[in-house]
Amino acid sequence: MKLHEFQAKEIFGKAGIPVPGGQVATTVDQAEEAVRSIKGPPWVVKAQVHAGGRGKGGGVKVVNDPKEAVAAAEAMLGSRLITKQTGAEGVIVNQVLIEEGVEIDRELYLSMVIDRAVSMPTMIFSKAGGMEIEEVAAETPELILKESLNPITGWMSSQARNLIYGIDPIPSKEAIRGLTSVMAKICNVFIENDCSLLEINPLVVTKGGEVIAIDAKMSIDDTAAFRQQELVKLDDPREKDPLELQAEQHNLNYIRLDGNIGAMVNGAGLAMATMDVIKAAGAEPANFLDVGGGANEDMIAKGFEIILQDERVEAILINIFGGILRCDVLARGVVAAAKKTSLSVPLIVRLEGTNVEEGRETLNNSDLDFFVAKDLAEAAELVAKQVS
Ligand code: ADP
Ligand code: MG
Repeated sequence: MKLHEFQAKEIFGKAGIPVPGGQVATTVDQAEEAVRSIKGPPWVVKAQVHAGGRGKGGGVKVVNDPKEAVAAAEAMLGSRLITKQTGAEGVIVNQVLIEEGVEIDRELYLSMVIDRAVSMPTMIFSKAGGMEIEEVAAETPELILKESLNPITGWMSSQARNLIYGIDPIPSKEAIRGLTSVMAKICNVFIENDCSLLEINPLVVTKGGEVIAIDAKMSIDDTAAFRQQELVKLDDPREKDPLELQAEQHNLNYIRLDGNIGAMVNGAGLAMATMDVIKAAGAEPANFLDVGGGANEDMIAKGFEIILQDERVEAILINIFGGILRCDVLARGVVAAAKKTSLSVPLIVRLEGTNVEEGRETLNNSDLDFFVAKDLAEAAELVAKQVS
């Protein structure tokens, strides 16, 4: 689950990480009120969407006049913001953050993620803030510094020093104090809130040497939702893909991808292998739909309906290895969903495992039109043929 910038900044503020004064607005009236109560000029008006790259997409406006600030908020509210991370259709801006403009001397990068290679939360620090960190990592990897948070020792001041003294030029004494404090607090916020990602890009040093978090990204590990009820309340379903939302409500793992082949698979490993063979056959998956091991007929039907609702889908591949999920249950679910929503694209089925004969029979006895593949390679080839 992702939080909005303003929500993450509120958590930062409470944890003692300096953030600019700000107020969120969902209407023009609220924006006027926010501009009156926030210190400026300059003011910064920022679209609150779950996507980065807002600055370059017109979702961050720095203005010097209160009227301009309100006008910028008015223009953003209800509009579609397109950034590198949103896809071509963009996302609707439902709220804006109006905050104090900060006099920036340096833009640094600070984040914490789970590093699976070392099985520990790991802090990433770089002097190349304000840019896309993936590009920095690809082009100038020497500018990316890392220190892992060992759960036994905790965060150590020597680690903060390794990071801070590792950038060129070394920050001023005052900035070093600020950075040391922010790093220690980021570790606390990360652990206390069961984060999977915390990112401040940029973490700025002002002309006066103050260290302030200008941007804030925070993702919470969904498996910790049961003990993070306060954070769960901050969830904003409007930011999610509508099909992903439907899938979530039915306990299905669905992830939207960019291609045109809908795929329904059981088990994440098989799903990943299926994505690979689709790609190897020269086609592109439109989604990753893992119905899981214990799916019932309703879940299968819902999953199939979700794929059918996606207008980009030009062919569907069902690749099921029946184990706990039996092939007959799968077949009944598919037939039920296809009855509800008319099937207008080719369907390729590869079924194996428990009750496979019964499953095939159910499909054969339905009036569904489908191709049967004898193995995964043939399934992928059939799929690729349908769309090429
Ligand atoms: P995004 O990463 O989505 O583009 P940011 O919050 O990082 O959005 O803002 C983009 C840029 O806008 C920052 O790198 C910074 O230069 C500028 N900016 C954002 N907020 C402020 C602020 N409060 N004061 C001054 N500059 C800001
Ligand atoms: Mg940013």
